[in-house]
Amino acid sequence: MAELHGVPPINTAHRVGLQPIATPSRLLLGPGPSNAHPTVLQALSRTPIGHLDPLYVELMGEVQELLRYVWQTDNRLTIPMSGTGSAAMEATLANTIEPGDKVLVAIKGYFGLRLADMAGRYRAEVVTVERPWGEAFSLDELEQALIRHKPAILAMVHAETSTGVCQPMAGIGDLCRQHNCLLLLDTVTSLGAVPLYLDDWKVDLAYSCSQKGLSCPPGLGPFSMGPRAEAKMMARQGKVPNWYLDVTLLNQYWGSDRVYHHTAPVNMNFGMREALRLLAEEGLEQAWARHRRNAEALWAGLEALGLELHVPAELRLPTLTTVRIPKGVDGKAFTQHLLNRHGIEVGGGLGALGGQVWRIGLMGFNSTPENVTTLLNLFETELPAFRSSAPVVAAVA
Ligand SMILES: *Cc1c(COP(=O)(O)O)cnc(C)c1O
Repeated sequence: MAELHGVPPINTAHRVGLQPIATPSRLLLGPGPSNAHPTVLQALSRTPIGHLDPLYVELMGEVQELLRYVWQTDNRLTIPMSGTGSAAMEATLANTIEPGDKVLVAIKGYFGLRLADMAGRYRAEVVTVERPWGEAFSLDELEQALIRHKPAILAMVHAETSTGVCQPMAGIGDLCRQHNCLLLLDTVTSLGAVPLYLDDWKVDLAYSCSQKGLSCPPGLGPFSMGPRAEAKMMARQGKVPNWYLDVTLLNQYWGSDRVYHHTAPVNMNFGMREALRLLAEEGLEQAWARHRRNAEALWAGLEALGLELHVPAELRLPTLTTVRIPKGVDGKAFTQHLLNRHGIEVGGGLGALGGQVWRIGLMGFNSTPENVTTLLNLFETELPAFRSSAPVVAAVA
């Protein structure tokens, strides 16, 4: 047998034989992802077109314009980053931080911690102000911290998905201007679902994701940069230390030059375009009101069942509700039961709230009265079996 020189034998150890994909249908009522709108899913399965095709370039403009609408901003530098919300989060920091810049992070939950971690990696001098998980910051507290630290950037989370708190934003932007500091806001769990006014609130940098309030699958991270942040970026001494997320380069593609940077995830942007189109068709105020209405029905229903909500009513986030797991209840066993028996995902606690709360999401396409009713019925009829006094077999019966 003639031996082929230099050609190694094929290693078949990893050649697993698979059946065609068959994912179950799930109702995603946790902290995200949320279910995508069926129209968005159809858009995702269209044949890709070139990322410099004139038709695609037109679509890019549509996505940018509708992102400005849902964020209520005129920011020119408003683009969907390729990657999830965390990529857009990283983009806000990577483009504006120069080594040694002081970044004040207001931490009241898990995602504040992530902001602090990322800012440190870009060699910011990170300082923090903290609140217990389940509370929000007062204007006075933030002002004291600004006076004390004199940061270049104040970074904070609008809708804290780990706690279910919505940070009141009135006056914070003005404070930041008075103290000559940029305001960076995480709007991952508020965009499209909770009142949000980037320009009116004087937010200089914001980011979000596709898979929560926007009814898209995960994969894009909307990003917006205002003129003050842009000025800081343009005055940098060195290059933006992250090539992929460098807005000075990305803007040559998203702006009028159309210079290739990286291959755009075109199908994800098809989906984003449709998600935003549907949101504009519904109307922003109508979508906000729908989220509030359904959340209030959920809150009332849970309280009527004797369950305790972790966040006081005035700070509650319509997209994400934290419910205290009652004493004697195996919280994890109940969420596993909901998933295995009913195909419904509900989240557990994260970080400091691990084991203490369930996290129920009503986001985008999933914020409906039907979903609220379905879930409340299950809490009413099936939770009792998970109390420690109930026989374990009841869950299976
Ligand atoms: C989900 C979430 C993120 C991270 O987004 P990914 O899409 O998971 O990368 C950031 N901040 C908040 C508040 C979130 O809820």
